[in-house]
Amino acid sequence: MPRRGVLTWWRDRRLVAKHKRLVAKFPSDVRAAHDHCSDHRAEVLASRRCGCFYCGAMFPPSEIRDWIDPPGEGKTALCAKCGIDSVLGDRSGFPITPEFLERLNRYWF
Ligand SMILES: [Zn+2]
Repeated sequence: MPRRGVLTWWRDRRLVAKHKRLVAKFPSDVRAAHDHCSDHRAEVLASRRCGCFYCGAMFPPSEIRDWIDPPGEGKTALCAKCGIDSVLGDRSGFPITPEFLERLNRYWF
């Protein structure tokens, strides 16, 4: 039992480290854009257009119905179409275009 637990822990740590090394090689704009997809309520509400890099939908912030994290505060938008927390607003400074959303999707999903 303990042996298996230790093994799992070790494997997870290695997976986490591997993921971090992978992300470190992403282009800087791809990493920077990801920083804007959570804890961004004010930025999203100040945007004219938002985009989801999971499903590729584009919509005005007024269409967002659900917000999560932290519990009770809801600072992270969920996509108006698919409900995934991969929403980016144009106030982030990133282009909300099908091309850019597709580019982010290739790296993060
Ligand atoms: Zn979506």
